[in-house]
Amino acid sequence: MKSRRVGITTTVPVEVIYAAGCIPVDLNNIFITGPNPGELVEEAELAGYPRNVCAWIKGIYSTVLRQGDIRTLVAVTQGDCSNTHALMETLELAGVEVIPFAYPFDRDRDLLTLQIEKLMDRFGVDWAAVNRARERLDRIRRKVWEIDRLTWQENLVGGWDNHLYQVNCSDFKGDPDAFEREVDEFLHRLKEAGPRREEIRLAYIGVPPIMDDLYDYLEERGARVVYNETQRQFTLPFATEDLVERYRLYSYPYGIFYRLEDITREVKKRNVQGVIHYAQSFCFRQIEDLIVRQKLNLPILTLEGDKPNRLDARTRMRLDSFIEMLR
Ligand code: SF4
Repeated sequence: MKSRRVGITTTVPVEVIYAAGCIPVDLNNIFITGPNPGELVEEAELAGYPRNVCAWIKGIYSTVLRQGDIRTLVAVTQGDCSNTHALMETLELAGVEVIPFAYPFDRDRDLLTLQIEKLMDRFGVDWAAVNRARERLDRIRRKVWEIDRLTWQENLVGGWDNHLYQVNCSDFKGDPDAFEREVDEFLHRLKEAGPRREEIRLAYIGVPPIMDDLYDYLEERGARVVYNETQRQFTLPFATEDLVERYRLYSYPYGIFYRLEDITREVKKRNVQGVIHYAQSFCFRQIEDLIVRQKLNLPILTLEGDKPNRLDARTRMRLDSFIEMLR
């Protein structure tokens, strides 16, 4: 029997979904890597989504409708985005079963345990099965952590590959075995690679970019991203085997001050010279830029992206000036 595909709107405890024999599908990833993501945004606008709503939400909406076989969605109702609420409702209207999942704002362990156990009930799995799934996925995560280490410590990996392998740890591309093979092949190829020569080391913080040429553009100009904040968090880069603790340490859903602890630690460790703070148009996280600017003691360039596209001329010019200033 074909496994049920379950949509997710951001990183959730995928161990539960895999333990149930279902296939998690990170809707962000299939939206943005599809043949024409811009068309999906337009489709949502034609359906009635306002122009001034984040393109990720619109892209996810159309992706679910287009895919057709995603009839269940785990939606994060706290810790991601308030727009998700309306997204859930519009998809419910289209007949999709929506399972809510909430990260407690204060990282309360009891509440998080309750949320994970409620999710387990919905999928009919127990802790033994979930922990088996965790062990399987952790083997892959450890290899992706190595890709990240080879990025900042050995200078063997470019910003895009660092982004890509880490961002795919939200759902392991729905096929952990195939994804692990991809990771293995990439690590194998790195054995032949010489160290990269970009002289400027950057951090990228904020949600993953909606434009796909940012990393290449920076590297053409001698600057390389050696730390992708959110993407790295998707790999749950924590040594503990306690699943609840893992999702408690995971910083993305828990507010800017907790995220800043991770950011401050990593930019120092990775010897970063400048920070790109990416903010999506119409995203509430744009407001947090003012906190980032007060708290981070490094040059910061705030970039805004709207629709899926390549970098526009103005953004290129701002990146050029930032790199020149750092140089
Ligand atoms: S970029 Fe911001 S507004 Fe858009 S889905 Fe993510 S959190 Fe929500």
